[in-house]
Amino acid sequence: MRKYVIMGVQGSGKGTQSELLENDLDLVHISVGDIFRWHVQHHTKLGAQVRRTMNAGELVGDDLVEKVVRDRLDQHDWNFGFVIDGFPRNGRQAEFFMETYDLDGVIHLELPDDEVRRRVLSRRLCPGCGMDYNLIADRPKVEGRCDICGTELIVREDDTPEALAARLRDYHEKTRPVLELFRRKEVVHDVDARPAPEKVQQEIRRVLDLPEYQPASVMS
Ligand code: AMP
Repeated sequence: MRKYVIMGVQGSGKGTQSELLENDLDLVHISVGDIFRWHVQHHTKLGAQVRRTMNAGELVGDDLVEKVVRDRLDQHDWNFGFVIDGFPRNGRQAEFFMETYDLDGVIHLELPDDEVRRRVLSRRLCPGCGMDYNLIADRPKVEGRCDICGTELIVREDDTPEALAARLRDYHEKTRPVLELFRRKEVVHDVDARPAPEKVQQEIRRVLDLPEYQPASVMS
C-alpha cells in the first residue's frame, strides 16, 4: 500500500504526473479540484456551494474540503494506494490529513511563477470528456476541438490572469508552509517540474524507489 501526496503550484503537472503513476502502478489518483469541478458541471448542491469560490481562484472552506476528502478515501477503492493532488493546501488541512493517514511520501513539483503563467494561460479543457490540452505542448489535432470527442474546448473559468494571480498568492502564502510542516514529519521529495512530462515521471519514480517508468507500455 502506497500513499502519496503530490504538491506543486497550478500548472506544475500534478494531474499529468498523478495519472502516469495511476496508469501502471494501480495507484488511485484523487484530485480534489476534479471532484469539485465534477459537482459544478453536474449542478449538484455541493457544486453550487463551491462554484463562485472556485471561479475567483480562492480556496474552498476547510470543513467542506475535509468532508470531500474523507468521503472519497472512505470508498476504499485504493487497494494498492493513492496519489492525492490539490490537498492539503493549508496548515489545518495538513494536520487533518496527517492525523488520519500515514503518508509514504510527498512529491513536490517545483516550477517558477513565470513558467506557471505561461503554462496555465495556454491550458484548454474539453467540457465533454474532461481531457486537458495545452496550446504550447499538447495541442489538439483540430484547433479548438477535442481529439477524443470533438467537443469545443474551453478555458477553465479559473485560468484567467486575475484568478491565477490569486491562486499563486494563496499558494505562496498558505501552501508553502504546508510543505515545511511535511518536511519536519514526512519525506518530501523536491522534483524539478520544468522538463518534459516523461522525464519528470522518471525522476519521481527514482526518488520514490518505484518501478521504472516505461513510456511505451503506458501509451499502449
Ligand atoms: P485545482 O484543480 O487543484 O487547481 O483546484 C481548483 C479549485 O478547487 C481551487 O482553486 C479551489 O477553489 C478548489 N480546491 C481544490 N482543492 C482545494 C483544497 N485542498 N482546499 C481548498 N480549495 C480547494
